[in-house]
Amino acid sequence: MSVNQQAHTGPPYGQPQPGYQGYQQPAYGGQSLPGAPQSQYGAYNGPMPGYQQPVPPQGSLRAPPTSGAPPPASGASHPSGHVAYSQFEHGDVQNGIPASAAPMQRPPASQPFLPGSAPTPVSQISTFQQYGPPPASVQQLRNHMAGMTIGCTAASAPPPAGLGYGAPRPPAMPGPPLPGQTVAGPPSSQPNHVSSPPPPSTMAGLHPGPPMSGLHGPPPPTHPPQPGYQMQQNGSFGQMRGPQPNYGGAYPGAPNYGSPPGPPPPPKRLDPDSIPSPQLNELPPQQKPRHRIDPDAIPSPIQVIEDDRNNRGSEPFVTGVRGQVPPLVTTNFLVKDQGNASPRYIRCTSYNIPCTSDMAKQSQVPLAAVIKPLATLPPEETLPYLVDHGESGPVRCNRCKAYMCPFMQFIEGGRRFQCCFCSCVTEVPPHYFQHLDHTGKRVDFYDRPELSLGSYEFLATVDYCKNNKFPSPPAFIFMIDVSYNAVKSGLVRLICEELKSLLDYLPREGNMEESAIRVGFVTYNKVLHFYNVKSSLAQPQMMVVSDVADMFVPLLDGFLVNVNESRTVIASLLDQIPEMFADTRETETVFAPVIQAGLEALKAADCAGKLFIFHTSLPIAEAPGKLKNRDDRKLINTDKEKTLFQPQTSFYNNLAKDCVAQGCCVDLFLFPNQYLDVATLGVVPYQTGGSIYKYAYFQLETDQYRFLNDLRKDVQKEVGFDAVMRVRTSTGIRATDFFGAFYMSNTTDVEMAGLDCDKTITVEFKHDDKLSEDSGALLQCALLYTSCAGQRRLRIHNLSLNCCTQLADLYRNCETDTLINYLAKHAYRGVLSSPVKTVRDALINQCAQILACYRKNCASPSSAGQLILPECMKLLPVYLNCVLKSDVLQPGPEVTTDDRAYIRQLVTSMDVAETNVFFYPRLLPLTKADVDSDSLPAAIRNSEERLSKGDIYLLEDGLNIFVWVGVNVQQSLIQNLFGVSSFSQISNALSTLPVLENPFSKKVRSVVDMLQGQRSRYMKLIIVKQEDKLEMLFKHFLVEDKSLSGGASYVDFLCHMHKEIRQLLS
Ligand SMILES: [Zn+2]
Repeated sequence: MSVNQQAHTGPPYGQPQPGYQGYQQPAYGGQSLPGAPQSQYGAYNGPMPGYQQPVPPQGSLRAPPTSGAPPPASGASHPSGHVAYSQFEHGDVQNGIPASAAPMQRPPASQPFLPGSAPTPVSQISTFQQYGPPPASVQQLRNHMAGMTIGCTAASAPPPAGLGYGAPRPPAMPGPPLPGQTVAGPPSSQPNHVSSPPPPSTMAGLHPGPPMSGLHGPPPPTHPPQPGYQMQQNGSFGQMRGPQPNYGGAYPGAPNYGSPPGPPPPPKRLDPDSIPSPQLNELPPQQKPRHRIDPDAIPSPIQVIEDDRNNRGSEPFVTGVRGQVPPLVTTNFLVKDQGNASPRYIRCTSYNIPCTSDMAKQSQVPLAAVIKPLATLPPEETLPYLVDHGESGPVRCNRCKAYMCPFMQFIEGGRRFQCCFCSCVTEVPPHYFQHLDHTGKRVDFYDRPELSLGSYEFLATVDYCKNNKFPSPPAFIFMIDVSYNAVKSGLVRLICEELKSLLDYLPREGNMEESAIRVGFVTYNKVLHFYNVKSSLAQPQMMVVSDVADMFVPLLDGFLVNVNESRTVIASLLDQIPEMFADTRETETVFAPVIQAGLEALKAADCAGKLFIFHTSLPIAEAPGKLKNRDDRKLINTDKEKTLFQPQTSFYNNLAKDCVAQGCCVDLFLFPNQYLDVATLGVVPYQTGGSIYKYAYFQLETDQYRFLNDLRKDVQKEVGFDAVMRVRTSTGIRATDFFGAFYMSNTTDVEMAGLDCDKTITVEFKHDDKLSEDSGALLQCALLYTSCAGQRRLRIHNLSLNCCTQLADLYRNCETDTLINYLAKHAYRGVLSSPVKTVRDALINQCAQILACYRKNCASPSSAGQLILPECMKLLPVYLNCVLKSDVLQPGPEVTTDDRAYIRQLVTSMDVAETNVFFYPRLLPLTKADVDSDSLPAAIRNSEERLSKGDIYLLEDGLNIFVWVGVNVQQSLIQNLFGVSSFSQISNALSTLPVLENPFSKKVRSVVDMLQGQRSRYMKLIIVKQEDKLEMLFKHFLVEDKSLSGGASYVDFLCHMHKEIRQLLS
């Protein structure tokens, strides 16, 4: 079966569009639609009605039982105050964050991360040595800072105090001028914050507007403007700052880490310069020439996002024009399909691609598309129409099999059409014939979606079905771990209670009254229990399969049932399961046999489907796919680090292949209390197009709401089964590489047992011939899948791009968010086969080449000391730095091996909006929110220096929501938000905000709900009090700052990139 079938002919379309009832979309793309964020649940929402948790009365610090032998009654305990945190929980307490009562302080700024006993601690830091100056490198740093021209009048760059490497005191005056350089006049005093546009100034060295170079002599103030983004253009880059009177120096890119909070913040931001440095204060005032890069003067993600919203948020994005760059994913906009697929379905790294492969190689800009074939649309937009050509099926090109689309050219009075992909001429089938108007357009152009729209669906014929047989409706099988940990934590009871109501919300299609999906139930520990829930039974029947070595399904009739027909028996079963295993002592589990059982059941029923597996521990019981604990953090920063991401056995790869062949998609919900080898357990979910959810140290009272929300969303979301996707391209380029959760048995077809509305596939293209500016380039993504009602369909997305012979056109039409999505996925795959350092270096190098090529070929001649960035890519350095210091590529000591494997797999399926907020989280000042409006407060940049201790902030990255409370927040605000009378009484064990009847509480909760509604997963809410130990976790997300794991600050990284670019240019 393939999407590559020969077409037949048939009657014209005239079908109503499919309506996915019971499935509405959350607000899409950024600043969203105010209102009910969880509308997709309809009436089914909120905590389980009337469900009381069997929680032992141990309070929020109740320790979850550890895996292994059943613990004594008291249970093992986490360090006091430990709050389980999904991404960074301690896999092993000894590796975790010390549970110190002292306020967390940042360690020395650019200290390389040296894992406790890592044998080769140097391997990952070398790239940072250049800008985290070693003892002898003050001059080096100075040179490099000087070269950067971002506000340097003097060359000296004192290293941060407190760095571990005993930096010598900077020279009293700038060192000797570098060859060919002239030190500019005495630094002048400048305001700390120069707003945009910079005030005109006649002071030496400060030139508003055009770029300047502080160390190359005073530049002409009338320097011709450069294309692209450069210092001071837009008034925001490269402001020079003289020394502050009265203050000792701060350091380049080293805001007050670890320092006590400064004096009361100025209205706009906390000024790092306001903290005196003892080291520098020892110098006489005239010997403190100081310069630093003003963080406000380098490209700001917040500004770019804001500008795009203002410029492009009001008008609909109409897709009729080839090669149009869409608004950013953070902009809320409507799309009108006029012949190209909506950016909700496809986004490209560039909408204007080089005509030749040489040009593409020269620029190093990857050509890639991020495709989300079943993306959810906002309610205001139209779902793809379903076109039914009857028995003949869709009209296709004879040669390349491309589907009829708006770019096919009808010729000879409409009797034939020329393929826009391969130029082959195909006869128009008689039933499809239509006359052309005077412009050569078919007269039924606007009546046929496949002629006028970018996205539409075809009803597939039996030729597109497995074994030439229309598929049966899919099945959902719920497979519940009933080992000791699962039972003891209350998880088994929770799942069973939830399923009783959730089963009424299975995906339905169109106007169908009930879902066509059948359900089945399995429980397991070391053995598997199947349940007969046939409607004619008075009570469910259990069948145990203890021979897990050769899994089979002991019953066919009665295993997969219709929910309504078997309602009573299912309810009875779900009541009984928690009781049956309440006293279990079994701690060991199997895993592979569980998947095999589900697979066999679907095979027996001859249908596709999804397994929902709820699993708690490393499967150490004797069985196929048995695993051992091979976690070893000592491998970090060694050549063997890649093994941490690889599965420990190929068994699961083979199993995944079998699952894909059957259309058996696996969604895995993990509840680990220790290492359970996500890298291996994730193989089948990953390769079958499924999802993994992880709730480490699951505790009923704090985690159940999040888990249940995820489960509800996961069960109800739109999903296609038994899917095959192929991307066709016009002559000259072709799809060469694919990233995402899928399986490929050949080089062109992406196979997914299941594909849901949140999954993306990133596709890379390479040239295989020349392209022409006239004809441009075309993509056609065809997804063949089985709908939730068992209907076989083809979803087609078309996109036309421009082609260019000038590099400047390429750089003008890039989209950095998409570029980052591709680069992250590429790097995250790279760690499977290469040392992480190699991957990081390659990333930096590629981006430096991209920017150097622009500088060399597109920017007007200017001093080498200037950093000039293309306007569309001015955020590339800041976002790239976020990828480089992400947990996969540069883990801090608190990040477990399982976290890294989990994140790696998650990111690989993310769309552009998700990677955007994941790598550069959204930080909102809640205390600035207008309680009378529906809007979100304006976001601020992710840096500690932007936080005021009198305010409360919210930070979200798509997986977590932090609420950070400053130590000086007004008591009334604390009372209104938390219902307690003082800062010290705020509990950071809260997993939801208390429901209080006052405007501030309502506003904050509505903001949280709005954000939750925009994300595909329910984010974990974490309350962080300033100077509390949890603040360390929070600071990890302040991505413009230096990170604990050694990641560079934005400013430092920008300097580094500039140096790399200069090296490439010299
Ligand atoms: Zn063709």
